[in-house]
Amino acid sequence: MRVFSIPMRTRFRGITVREGALLQGDAGWGEWSPFLEYPPDVAEPWLRCAEEAAAGDWPEPLRSWVPVNVTVPAVGPERADAIVRAGGCTTAKVKVAEPGQTLGDDLARLEAVRSALGPAGKVRVDANGGWSVEEAVAAIRLLDRAAGGLEYVEQPCATVEELATVRRAVDVPIAADESIRRAADPYRVRDLEAADIAVLKVQPLGGVRACLRIAEDIGLPVVVSSALESSVGIAAGVALAAALPTLPFACGLATVQLLTSDVVDSSLLPVDGALRVGVPSVSLPSLDALAATPDRAAHWEARLAEVRAWRAALGQDGAS
Ligand SMILES: [Mg+2]
Repeated sequence: MRVFSIPMRTRFRGITVREGALLQGDAGWGEWSPFLEYPPDVAEPWLRCAEEAAAGDWPEPLRSWVPVNVTVPAVGPERADAIVRAGGCTTAKVKVAEPGQTLGDDLARLEAVRSALGPAGKVRVDANGGWSVEEAVAAIRLLDRAAGGLEYVEQPCATVEELATVRRAVDVPIAADESIRRAADPYRVRDLEAADIAVLKVQPLGGVRACLRIAEDIGLPVVVSSALESSVGIAAGVALAAALPTLPFACGLATVQLLTSDVVDSSLLPVDGALRVGVPSVSLPSLDALAATPDRAAHWEARLAEVRAWRAALGQDGAS
Protein backbone atom coordinates (compact mmCIF):
# COMPACT_ATOMS: atom_id res chain seq x y z
CA MET A 1 0.00 0.00 0.00
CA ARG A 2 1.17 3.50 -0.87
CA VAL A 3 -0.45 6.52 0.80
CA PHE A 4 -0.66 9.78 -1.15
CA SER A 5 -1.52 13.32 -0.12
CA ILE A 6 -2.47 15.78 -2.88
CA PRO A 7 -3.44 19.43 -2.27
CA MET A 8 -6.72 20.54 -3.91
CA ARG A 9 -6.89 23.59 -6.17
CA THR A 10 -10.10 24.75 -4.48
CA ARG A 11 -11.67 23.71 -1.23
CA PHE A 12 -14.22 21.01 -2.14
CA ARG A 13 -16.49 18.97 0.11
CA GLY A 14 -14.80 20.77 3.01
CA ILE A 15 -11.33 19.46 2.25
CA THR A 16 -8.17 21.12 0.94
CA VAL A 17 -5.94 18.03 0.71
CA ARG A 18 -6.97 14.70 -0.80
CA GLU A 19 -5.43 11.80 1.06
CA GLY A 20 -5.82 8.19 -0.07
CA ALA A 21 -4.06 4.92 -0.73
CA LEU A 22 -3.14 2.80 -3.72
CA LEU A 23 -3.16 -0.97 -3.22
CA GLN A 24 -1.16 -3.19 -5.53
CA GLY A 25 -2.58 -6.53 -6.66
CA ASP A 26 -1.96 -9.18 -9.30
CA ALA A 27 -3.15 -7.00 -12.18
CA GLY A 28 -2.06 -3.55 -11.01
CA TRP A 29 -3.15 -0.79 -8.68
CA GLY A 30 -6.50 0.01 -7.12
CA GLU A 31 -7.39 3.20 -5.26
CA TRP A 32 -8.75 3.09 -1.71
CA SER A 33 -9.59 6.60 -0.62
CA PRO A 34 -12.54 6.67 1.80
CA PHE A 35 -12.83 10.13 3.35
CA LEU A 36 -11.00 10.46 6.64
CA GLU A 37 -14.05 10.57 8.88
CA TYR A 38 -15.54 7.33 7.52
CA PRO A 39 -15.67 4.44 10.01
CA PRO A 40 -14.64 0.89 8.98
CA ASP A 41 -18.12 -0.27 7.92
CA VAL A 42 -18.48 2.71 5.55
CA ALA A 43 -14.90 2.37 4.24
CA GLU A 44 -15.32 -1.37 3.52
CA PRO A 45 -17.08 -1.13 0.12
CA TRP A 46 -14.40 1.39 -0.94
CA LEU A 47 -11.85 -1.35 -0.23
CA ARG A 48 -13.79 -3.87 -2.35
CA CYS A 49 -13.57 -1.41 -5.23
CA ALA A 50 -9.79 -1.11 -4.83
CA GLU A 51 -9.37 -4.88 -4.60
CA GLU A 52 -11.47 -5.43 -7.74
CA ALA A 53 -9.28 -2.95 -9.64
CA ALA A 54 -6.03 -4.44 -8.34
CA ALA A 55 -7.25 -7.89 -9.39
CA GLY A 56 -8.08 -6.58 -12.88
CA ASP A 57 -11.64 -7.83 -12.52
CA TRP A 58 -13.52 -5.26 -14.62
CA PRO A 59 -16.19 -6.03 -17.23
CA GLU A 60 -15.47 -5.55 -20.92
CA PRO A 61 -15.91 -1.94 -22.08
CA LEU A 62 -18.65 -1.22 -24.64
CA ARG A 63 -17.20 2.16 -25.62
CA SER A 64 -13.72 3.71 -25.70
CA TRP A 65 -14.59 7.28 -24.61
CA VAL A 66 -16.86 8.52 -21.82
CA PRO A 67 -18.40 12.03 -22.04
CA VAL A 68 -17.89 14.05 -18.86
CA ASN A 69 -18.93 17.33 -17.24
CA VAL A 70 -16.68 19.98 -15.80
CA THR A 71 -17.30 20.31 -12.05
CA VAL A 72 -17.69 23.82 -10.64
CA PRO A 73 -17.25 24.03 -6.84
CA ALA A 74 -19.09 26.65 -4.75
CA VAL A 75 -16.84 29.46 -6.00
CA GLY A 76 -17.54 33.03 -7.07
CA PRO A 77 -18.68 33.87 -10.61
CA GLU A 78 -15.24 34.86 -11.95
CA ARG A 79 -13.62 31.65 -10.79
CA ALA A 80 -16.62 29.66 -12.12
CA ASP A 81 -16.16 31.29 -15.52
CA ALA A 82 -12.45 30.39 -15.57
CA ILE A 83 -13.11 26.77 -14.51
CA VAL A 84 -15.72 26.23 -17.23
CA ARG A 85 -13.52 27.80 -19.93
CA ALA A 86 -10.52 25.70 -18.88
CA GLY A 87 -12.61 22.55 -18.54
CA GLY A 88 -13.06 21.76 -22.20
CA CYS A 89 -16.53 20.26 -21.61
CA THR A 90 -19.97 21.15 -22.98
CA THR A 91 -21.72 20.07 -19.77
CA ALA A 92 -21.11 21.69 -16.37
CA LYS A 93 -22.08 20.43 -12.93
CA VAL A 94 -22.37 23.28 -10.46
CA LYS A 95 -22.37 22.96 -6.68
CA VAL A 96 -25.20 24.87 -5.00
CA ALA A 97 -26.71 25.15 -1.50
CA GLU A 98 -23.24 25.31 0.07
CA PRO A 99 -23.47 25.93 3.84
CA GLY A 100 -22.72 29.58 4.61
CA GLN A 101 -23.68 30.79 1.12
CA THR A 102 -26.92 32.29 -0.19
CA LEU A 103 -29.21 31.55 -3.11
CA GLY A 104 -27.87 34.81 -4.58
CA ASP A 105 -24.38 33.26 -4.66
CA ASP A 106 -25.78 30.23 -6.50
CA LEU A 107 -27.65 32.38 -9.01
CA ALA A 108 -24.54 34.47 -9.77
CA ARG A 109 -22.44 31.32 -10.20
CA LEU A 110 -25.02 29.75 -12.55
CA GLU A 111 -25.30 32.85 -14.70
CA ALA A 112 -21.50 32.89 -15.06
CA VAL A 113 -21.45 29.20 -15.96
CA ARG A 114 -24.16 29.63 -18.61
CA SER A 115 -22.40 32.54 -20.19
CA ALA A 116 -19.06 30.67 -20.25
CA LEU A 117 -20.65 27.52 -21.75
CA GLY A 118 -22.73 29.27 -24.36
CA PRO A 119 -26.35 28.48 -25.20
CA ALA A 120 -25.72 24.92 -26.44
CA GLY A 121 -24.05 23.69 -23.23
CA LYS A 122 -25.85 21.74 -20.53
CA VAL A 123 -25.95 22.81 -16.88
CA ARG A 124 -26.79 20.55 -13.95
CA VAL A 125 -26.63 21.45 -10.24
CA ASP A 126 -25.85 19.41 -7.12
CA ALA A 127 -27.29 20.57 -3.78
CA ASN A 128 -25.91 17.64 -1.73
CA GLY A 129 -29.20 17.46 0.19
CA GLY A 130 -28.86 21.04 1.40
CA TRP A 131 -32.45 22.23 0.92
CA SER A 132 -35.79 21.62 2.59
CA VAL A 133 -38.64 20.72 0.20
CA GLU A 134 -39.91 24.34 0.18
CA GLU A 135 -36.42 25.76 -0.37
CA ALA A 136 -35.77 23.25 -3.15
CA VAL A 137 -38.96 24.00 -5.06
CA ALA A 138 -38.34 27.77 -4.89
CA ALA A 139 -34.60 27.51 -5.64
CA ILE A 140 -34.99 25.10 -8.56
CA ARG A 141 -37.39 27.45 -10.34
CA LEU A 142 -35.00 30.41 -9.94
CA LEU A 143 -31.87 28.43 -10.79
CA ASP A 144 -33.57 26.90 -13.83
CA ARG A 145 -34.22 30.43 -15.09
CA ALA A 146 -30.70 31.72 -14.22
CA ALA A 147 -29.11 28.76 -15.99
CA GLY A 148 -31.30 29.12 -19.06
CA GLY A 149 -32.63 25.62 -18.39
CA LEU A 150 -31.25 22.96 -16.04
CA GLU A 151 -30.47 19.44 -17.27
CA TYR A 152 -31.23 18.05 -13.79
CA VAL A 153 -30.92 18.75 -10.07
CA GLU A 154 -28.89 16.30 -8.02
CA GLN A 155 -29.95 15.45 -4.46
CA PRO A 156 -31.94 18.65 -3.70
CA CYS A 157 -32.97 17.35 -0.25
CA ALA A 158 -31.63 14.80 2.19
CA THR A 159 -34.30 12.09 2.25
CA VAL A 160 -35.87 9.88 -0.40
CA GLU A 161 -39.37 11.04 0.62
CA GLU A 162 -38.36 14.67 0.14
CA LEU A 163 -36.88 13.91 -3.27
CA ALA A 164 -40.15 12.28 -4.30
CA THR A 165 -42.12 15.35 -3.16
CA VAL A 166 -39.83 17.80 -4.96
CA ARG A 167 -39.89 15.65 -8.10
CA ARG A 168 -43.67 15.97 -8.24
CA ALA A 169 -43.54 19.75 -7.75
CA VAL A 170 -40.99 20.79 -10.39
CA ASP A 171 -40.41 20.13 -14.10
CA VAL A 172 -36.62 19.77 -13.84
CA PRO A 173 -35.52 16.08 -13.61
CA ILE A 174 -34.20 14.90 -10.23
CA ALA A 175 -31.04 12.83 -9.75
CA ALA A 176 -30.37 10.80 -6.60
CA ASP A 177 -26.82 10.49 -5.25
CA GLU A 178 -26.57 10.29 -1.45
CA SER A 179 -30.02 8.64 -1.40
CA ILE A 180 -28.43 5.69 -3.23
CA ARG A 181 -24.90 5.45 -1.91
CA ARG A 182 -25.60 6.24 1.74
CA ALA A 183 -28.94 4.42 1.99
CA ALA A 184 -29.51 1.07 3.63
CA ASP A 185 -31.71 0.30 0.61
CA PRO A 186 -30.65 2.01 -2.64
CA TYR A 187 -33.83 0.79 -4.35
CA ARG A 188 -36.20 2.95 -2.29
CA VAL A 189 -35.44 5.70 -4.81
CA ARG A 190 -36.94 3.45 -7.48
CA ASP A 191 -39.80 2.20 -5.33
CA LEU A 192 -40.92 5.73 -4.32
CA GLU A 193 -40.31 7.09 -7.85
CA ALA A 194 -38.12 9.69 -6.19
CA ALA A 195 -35.68 10.31 -9.06
CA ASP A 196 -35.31 10.34 -12.83
CA ILE A 197 -31.57 9.60 -12.79
CA ALA A 198 -29.29 7.48 -10.58
CA VAL A 199 -25.84 8.82 -9.70
CA LEU A 200 -23.47 5.92 -9.00
CA LYS A 201 -20.00 6.13 -7.46
CA VAL A 202 -17.85 3.02 -7.66
CA GLN A 203 -15.92 3.27 -4.38
CA PRO A 204 -18.83 3.82 -1.93
CA LEU A 205 -20.95 1.25 -3.76
CA GLY A 206 -18.36 -1.55 -3.70
CA GLY A 207 -16.85 -1.52 -7.17
CA VAL A 208 -17.59 -1.62 -10.88
CA ARG A 209 -19.46 -4.94 -10.97
CA ALA A 210 -21.54 -4.07 -7.89
CA CYS A 211 -22.57 -0.79 -9.58
CA LEU A 212 -23.46 -2.58 -12.81
CA ARG A 213 -25.87 -4.77 -10.83
CA ILE A 214 -27.43 -1.72 -9.14
CA ALA A 215 -27.77 0.00 -12.53
CA GLU A 216 -29.59 -3.03 -13.90
CA ASP A 217 -31.93 -3.38 -10.91
CA ILE A 218 -32.69 0.30 -10.31
CA GLY A 219 -34.04 0.80 -13.84
CA LEU A 220 -32.97 4.46 -14.16
CA PRO A 221 -30.43 6.09 -16.49
CA VAL A 222 -27.07 6.30 -14.72
CA VAL A 223 -24.57 9.12 -14.30
CA VAL A 224 -21.23 7.82 -12.98
CA SER A 225 -19.55 10.29 -10.65
CA SER A 226 -16.25 10.43 -8.82
CA ALA A 227 -15.37 10.61 -5.16
CA LEU A 228 -12.51 13.01 -5.87
CA GLU A 229 -10.08 10.24 -6.72
CA SER A 230 -6.68 10.37 -8.39
CA SER A 231 -6.61 9.07 -11.97
CA VAL A 232 -6.26 5.51 -10.64
CA GLY A 233 -9.62 5.72 -8.89
CA ILE A 234 -11.22 7.68 -11.73
CA ALA A 235 -10.31 4.83 -14.09
CA ALA A 236 -12.65 2.56 -12.10
CA GLY A 237 -15.53 5.01 -12.63
CA VAL A 238 -14.65 5.20 -16.31
CA ALA A 239 -14.70 1.38 -16.46
CA LEU A 240 -18.25 1.40 -15.09
CA ALA A 241 -19.38 4.12 -17.50
CA ALA A 242 -17.78 2.19 -20.37
CA ALA A 243 -19.61 -1.03 -19.42
CA LEU A 244 -23.13 0.40 -19.01
CA PRO A 245 -25.50 -0.71 -21.77
CA THR A 246 -26.58 2.92 -22.34
CA LEU A 247 -24.98 6.19 -21.30
CA PRO A 248 -27.36 9.06 -22.09
CA PHE A 249 -25.68 11.71 -19.87
CA ALA A 250 -22.18 13.07 -19.38
CA CYS A 251 -20.51 11.61 -16.29
CA GLY A 252 -19.06 13.47 -13.29
CA LEU A 253 -15.61 11.98 -13.68
CA ALA A 254 -13.56 15.01 -14.75
CA THR A 255 -12.43 15.85 -11.23
CA VAL A 256 -8.70 15.18 -11.48
CA GLN A 257 -8.34 18.86 -12.39
CA LEU A 258 -9.57 19.74 -8.89
CA LEU A 259 -6.28 18.24 -7.63
CA THR A 260 -2.92 19.98 -8.04
CA SER A 261 -1.10 16.78 -8.95
CA ASP A 262 -1.64 13.11 -9.77
CA VAL A 263 -0.10 9.64 -9.28
CA VAL A 264 0.01 8.54 -12.93
CA ASP A 265 2.13 9.36 -15.99
CA SER A 266 -0.81 10.65 -18.00
CA SER A 267 -3.78 12.02 -16.04
CA LEU A 268 -7.39 11.22 -16.94
CA LEU A 269 -8.28 14.71 -18.14
CA PRO A 270 -11.02 15.39 -20.68
CA VAL A 271 -10.17 15.63 -24.36
CA ASP A 272 -13.02 17.32 -26.25
CA GLY A 273 -15.31 16.68 -23.28
CA ALA A 274 -14.57 12.97 -22.87
CA LEU A 275 -12.23 10.67 -20.93
CA ARG A 276 -10.48 7.77 -22.62
CA VAL A 277 -11.28 4.28 -21.32
CA GLY A 278 -8.33 2.29 -19.99
CA VAL A 279 -5.96 1.77 -17.13
CA PRO A 280 -3.52 4.64 -16.56
CA SER A 281 0.00 3.64 -15.61
CA VAL A 282 1.07 4.59 -12.10
CA SER A 283 4.13 6.80 -11.82
CA LEU A 284 6.37 5.64 -8.99
CA PRO A 285 8.32 8.94 -8.94
CA SER A 286 4.99 10.81 -8.56
CA LEU A 287 3.93 8.44 -5.79
CA ASP A 288 7.22 9.19 -4.04
CA ALA A 289 6.79 12.94 -4.51
CA LEU A 290 3.19 12.83 -3.21
CA ALA A 291 3.82 10.34 -0.39
CA ALA A 292 2.04 11.18 2.84
CA THR A 293 4.13 11.65 5.98
CA PRO A 294 5.10 8.43 7.83
CA ASP A 295 2.58 9.41 10.48
CA ARG A 296 -0.26 9.56 8.00
CA ALA A 297 0.89 6.39 6.23
CA ALA A 298 0.78 4.59 9.57
CA HIS A 299 -2.73 5.94 10.11
CA TRP A 300 -3.84 4.40 6.79
CA GLU A 301 -2.17 1.07 7.60
CA ALA A 302 -4.16 1.05 10.85
CA ARG A 303 -7.34 1.96 8.97
CA LEU A 304 -6.82 -0.88 6.52
CA ALA A 305 -6.32 -3.31 9.41
CA GLU A 306 -9.53 -2.03 11.04
CA VAL A 307 -11.57 -2.50 7.89
CA ARG A 308 -10.21 -6.01 7.41
CA ALA A 309 -10.96 -6.81 11.06
CA TRP A 310 -14.51 -5.49 10.65
CA ARG A 311 -14.93 -7.62 7.54
CA ALA A 312 -13.52 -10.72 9.23
CA ALA A 313 -15.84 -10.21 12.20
CA LEU A 314 -18.77 -10.33 9.77
CA GLY A 315 -17.40 -13.49 8.18
CA GLN A 316 -17.00 -11.63 4.90
CA ASP A 317 -13.26 -12.10 4.55
CA GLY A 318 -12.56 -12.94 0.93
CA ALA A 319 -16.25 -13.18 0.14
CA SER A 320 -16.33 -10.07 -2.01
MG1 LIG B 1 -23.57 14.50 -5.66
